[in-house]
Amino acid sequence: MIRFLALLILALGLAGPAAAQEPPRWTIAIHGGAGVIERGQLTPERDAEYRAALEAAVEAGAEVLRNGGSSLDAVQASIEVMEDNPMFNAGRGAVFTAEGTNSLDAAIMDGQTLSAGAVAGVSRTRHPIALARAVMEQSPHVMLAGEGADAFAASVGLEQVDPAFFFTQRRWDQLVDTLTQRGWQIPERPAGTEPTSGASAALTDGDDHRFGTVGVVAVDSQGRIAAGTSTGGTTAKRWGRIGDTPVIGAGTWAGRGCAVSATGAGEYFIRLTVARDICGLNHAAHMPVQQAADLIISEVGSIGGDGGVIALTEDGSVAFSMNTSGMYRGWANQDTAPQVAIYSDEDVVLP
Ligand code: ASP
Repeated sequence: MIRFLALLILALGLAGPAAAQEPPRWTIAIHGGAGVIERGQLTPERDAEYRAALEAAVEAGAEVLRNGGSSLDAVQASIEVMEDNPMFNAGRGAVFTAEGTNSLDAAIMDGQTLSAGAVAGVSRTRHPIALARAVMEQSPHVMLAGEGADAFAASVGLEQVDPAFFFTQRRWDQLVDTLTQRGWQIPERPAGTEPTSGASAALTDGDDHRFGTVGVVAVDSQGRIAAGTSTGGTTAKRWGRIGDTPVIGAGTWAGRGCAVSATGAGEYFIRLTVARDICGLNHAAHMPVQQAADLIISEVGSIGGDGGVIALTEDGSVAFSMNTSGMYRGWANQDTAPQVAIYSDEDVVLP
């Protein structure tokens, strides 16, 4: 009898659910901006810091997906990590306008429902990506701008900060440098920011003055796909300039089983509706997503623009494409821990 019971327990154990089921499938890919990032420009320490920051951002979204969370939650989680990290041009650490302010843009899109939310020129909301999501889910609109957008953020309980929260010495030095080169007037240092002594890392680590935008695409275990992007825009932008990031279909798009987030010279990405076009080629023309991304990025280059995209399809295929020497990027899925890369010629095995 005891022997029979022991055999029964063994048999049940072998045929148990763990032996039969594969882990639910999910994929996430991120970027932290594209631009002139040459080998040798980043010190080994700075290179390692960027890789660690990218890994942490991928992992924040991967954890959501691993636990059965939605792709929208994963996109928001990863982007918030990068918005809080001054190494990226989004949230804290955003570049400055010519007037010496930070003016933040973000967008998010749900590929299942084609709902979207976007904000432009916000300066008081700690996480612009959370605000874009609130616009999508809690307002009848798709895009809000400026003070009205911040007021909406406050009304739905999103964390508000003093504009000085977004200040970093590194980005201030970049602004002063750019304005000096252009012969433009240098504005007053923002109230509430203390000058720090010594040169900032920015002027020596090879970062150029524009890039560092962040974006995420993800598909969750239920096959729902989403995209999001967040940026401070371009250094010394004027006149309320808005780039491609919050323009649905240009810098951010998700739908028809495909999601894209872009980074680069926004004026070109807007004119070629880059994100929507890549998904259109993939969906309507059945073009593999890598080929579609490469085609549209080469078109961006042909009209004088530079930058890159991350793209994802609902089967978990990831594409990275850029016409710059580097793009901070990474991905993970149910089988693979976060993989990250910086330089364009770096080999990254993609799912
Ligand atoms: N695309 C962003 C913009 O034009 C900038 C960037 O990605 O670096 O605002």
